[in-house]
Parts: sequence; structure tokens; C-alpha cells
Amino acid sequence: MNERMKLLLIVPHPDDEVYGAAGTLMDLLGEGHRCGLVTLTRGEAGRTLGLCDGPEELARMRGVELRACLDVIGLTVHEQHTFPDKHLAEQPLEALVEVARGAMQRHRPEIVLTFPPNGSNGHPDHVTTHRAVRGAWESLPEGERPRLWYYASDTPPENEALHAAWLAPNLRRDVTHHVRRKLQAIACHRSQALSTVDFIRKFPERITEETFHEVQG
Ligand SMILES: [Zn+2]
Repeated sequence: MNERMKLLLIVPHPDDEVYGAAGTLMDLLGEGHRCGLVTLTRGEAGRTLGLCDGPEELARMRGVELRACLDVIGLTVHEQHTFPDKHLAEQPLEALVEVARGAMQRHRPEIVLTFPPNGSNGHPDHVTTHRAVRGAWESLPEGERPRLWYYASDTPPENEALHAAWLAPNLRRDVTHHVRRKLQAIACHRSQALSTVDFIRKFPERITEETFHEVQG
């Protein structure tokens, strides 16, 4: 149980694990490494596309979708938290930092992956998750800090504020060999079909090449 985890993802929403990292997870798991996922909210404030009524039903549906997605990826280590979706910024940051730090201390990952300072798309939950993970990471003694990776895109954001905080990728992983299984994993998040088409329209290259920004220590 002391075996060190390779990659730990800490993200706010069910589906944040899949678009930019599913192929990398498949690679690492296929090589026999342990990987893990921490999801901070149940995604109850997302779009329903008329598939269900109300936040509670959506949270349940997204839980089922996420499990199906993780089955396709082959990821078995998953912590689901119940912080309020869309309202992470209103939570005491220390509570979120504590969750991130606890997961890092339990799993001792070699790499932690989360959103960049601009949250990739500016979503307040993504930005808050970044702050929590960064805070937890900085609170660890220097010798115990994992490598810190952020989702990153070669395409600079059009929005000026997002652009100002944009970090270009300095790591890229070709995951073309997983493209079928990755698309299948993405498609498990049926209720979030609009996020899927938005991602594919904006970042088609990131389906087959996953790009990250590694924080330089
Ligand atoms: Zn998200």
C-alpha cells in the first residue's frame, strides 16, 4: 500500500478528468502505475439537456456517467466529494486545501494534475480548484512536493483576462493509440454532450495529443 502513485488528478467536476487526460491515464495504467482521481463536486449545477429533473437527479446521473467513464479508462481509485457545484469559490478555501493536501499525503503521487491559474476557461470552480491544489502543494515540505502539472492548450484564449494568465504547454503526450477508447470514455458523459462538442470544436488537437504545463520548481 506504500507504493507511490504515479498521477493524481484533482478536479471540480465529473468530466474534467476525461478531455485532457484520459489517454495519459490509459498509458500510465497500462504501464502498471497507480493513478487516482479526486472529484470535488457532483456536478449538480451542470446542464441537464432535458435528460433529468433537477440537481439531485443530475448529480446521480453524472455519478453513473463518471463511473462508466472511469471503467473505460480503467481507473479504480476515485474519491468523490460533495462540495456545491458552481459555488466552490464561496467555500472556505482552507477546507478545499485540506482535501487536496489529504489526498496528496495519502497517495504520495509523483505528479499532481489540476487546472491552471485561469481555470482553462475561467470557470470559477476550475480557478478555485487551482488555488486549493496550489495551496496544498505549497504547504508540503519542499522535498515532499509532487511534480505539479496543469492542463494547458497551445491555443491561447481569446478572452483578454484569460490570456493574461495563460500558461503554454511544456509537456506533450501523443495518445493517438488510445483515440477510440478515449472517445468512448468521453461519450460516457452523455448529459455533458455540449461540453464535449465545445471541447472538440475548440481543441481538436487535444483529443490525440494531451498537453500540460509543468510548474518549474
Ligand atoms: Zn469542469
